[in-house]
Amino acid sequence: MITASPGARITSPALADWRQLWRDSVTDSRELLSLLELGHLASRLPAEDAGFALRVPRGFVARMRPGDAADPLLLQVLPQLAEQEHVPGFVTDAVGDLASRETQGVLHKYQGRALLIASGSCAINCRYCFRRHFPYGDEMAAAGQWRQALEHVRQDTSINELILSGGDPLALATGKLEELSRGLADLPHITRLRIHTRLPIVLPERIDAPFVEWLRALPLQKIVVLHANHANEFDDPVDAACARLRDAGATLLNQSVLLRGINDDAGTLAALSERLFAAGVLSYYLHQLDRVQGAAHFEVSDTQAQSLVEALRSRLPGYLVPKLVREVEGDPSKRPL
Ligand SMILES: *Cc1c(COP(=O)(O)O)cnc(C)c1O
Ligand code: SF4
Repeated sequence: MITASPGARITSPALADWRQLWRDSVTDSRELLSLLELGHLASRLPAEDAGFALRVPRGFVARMRPGDAADPLLLQVLPQLAEQEHVPGFVTDAVGDLASRETQGVLHKYQGRALLIASGSCAINCRYCFRRHFPYGDEMAAAGQWRQALEHVRQDTSINELILSGGDPLALATGKLEELSRGLADLPHITRLRIHTRLPIVLPERIDAPFVEWLRALPLQKIVVLHANHANEFDDPVDAACARLRDAGATLLNQSVLLRGINDDAGTLAALSERLFAAGVLSYYLHQLDRVQGAAHFEVSDTQAQSLVEALRSRLPGYLVPKLVREVEGDPSKRPL
């Protein structure tokens, strides 16, 4: 990671500033391939990035296997020619988010839970993500000190859980999150705060002391839903970030996306659930891919998905088997498969 030049003072090398690490991410496909000793594959890259650039923190790159063009972490981030194919049924707004937006950055589809698109930014660009088609600003619900979003929540007392999602809500500065918790102080019907984030996995340094103190002090039940798709995404810094989150009082869950060529076999999914649990995280959802334009090459059929989960059930304790779901526009919940 960061090496000290002679005379430089680094107070906490284990927790290098996450914004600096973010800025230092790899954003060039050729550089990524050459770091992985795969430079000879550069000629197979798409000529353009189709508006969704490569972005990956160096700590995540360090968990990829050099020389392996089929590395499951690499395949999640490397632009492929297959993204340019137009496949019928794969569209830009795959889950009807535009239709269900209540007010700036608020999605309220399910009973009791309001989801705030807190931020449009992420530290990583996952090729299968619906976000590739959204013209997000950097701050959505967080704009204007969360005023519009909080007003929506104030007026609907059936909401008891607030979900911060995105993009990645932990892309926001901790100061922005403090503004939110001040706004929540006079909304007694909110009893739980849930954060959907991939940052503890891809940039674990984000879980720094000020953030942990903010989380610990929240007078609500706290749930952090991580997003990891493969056991190789874990290393010591990620384990340490999970430990800090648990220590701050958060229940840790994980959601994964079922991805062809990355985690579409029972052994890989079982290893993921075991690895998550070793880090204190329970497998929550295994999502069937949202049918997003440019992501068709990642899709696994429903039949295969169901038999994978059957196989998991026969080899893991029930609490390690994720629920296989798909998001269907207009449904009152994620749809079990
Ligand atoms: C997925 C989602 C939720 C959370 O659903 P759970 O089943 O509670 O995890 C809430 N709101 C929206 C809009 C969602 O898409
Ligand atoms: S971290 Fe999540 S929101 Fe961000 S690009 Fe990846 S899948 Fe999409």
